This record gives sequence, C-alpha cells and structure tokens, in this order.
Amino acid sequence: MIRNTRQRDAIRQVFCELRRPLSPQEVLEQARRRLPRLGLATVYRNLKAMEEDGWLSTVQLPGRPLLYERADKQHHHYFECRACHRVYDVPACPRNLNRLVPQGFEVEQHEIVLYGRCHACAARD
Ligand SMILES: [Zn+2]
Ligand SMILES: [Zn+2]
Repeated sequence: MIRNTRQRDAIRQVFCELRRPLSPQEVLEQARRRLPRLGLATVYRNLKAMEEDGWLSTVQLPGRPLLYERADKQHHHYFECRACHRVYDVPACPRNLNRLVPQGFEVEQHEIVLYGRCHACAARD
C-alpha cells in the first residue's frame, strides 16, 4: 500500500506543477523524475482511480486521446499547440454565445478549443 501512495503522490504532484491537461504519457514522463521505475500501466490505473475519486476529470478534444486535468477547475477552455501538441487552459470565456446563432435558437452549452503555437514554440521561430 505504501508503494501505491507514493505513486499517487508523484502523479498528483505532476498535475499541481504543470497546471494543464495531460496525457498518460506526459504524466509518466514527468512522474518518472521521482519514481524512475514507474510504468505506463500503473499510470493508467492511478489516473482512472483518481478520476473515480473525483480528483481528476477527463478532457476529450477532437482527434486526440483522452487527457486528464484536476477536477476542481472553474469553467474554462483550451489551447492546443500545433507544434508541440501540448494543451493549455484558457481561463477566459466569451460568454453570451446566443448572439452567434440564428434568432429563436438557444445555446445551452459550448466547448472552445483554440489552435496555434504556444509561447515556447512561437519563440523558437
Ligand atoms: Zn508548443
Ligand atoms: Zn465558456
């Protein structure tokens, strides 16, 4: 059980440090700095358990495998870098999207994904 706790702590730490939606592979790479022998199957198992516990939630963006993020976030949107494929949070929301739809329509919910280059990738060119 002690081993399990250490794995869970290392994964939790990754989300607290990076503060963006992460794939299981990204979690593995980061958590291995603390636990070099951590494996992908273990990461998957822990992510699933942490989702069931309500600490993580899943993020499904078009054309990508499932990502995970902390479940305690406010309403927000995403930015996907086309160069490094990292996904970042966008805290802003345009609100009042009813002005975009024809008269008589009512928007009930929305998802927004912005695409471009992140700060690091834009600086590289
Ligand atoms: Zn990038
Ligand atoms: Zn919004």
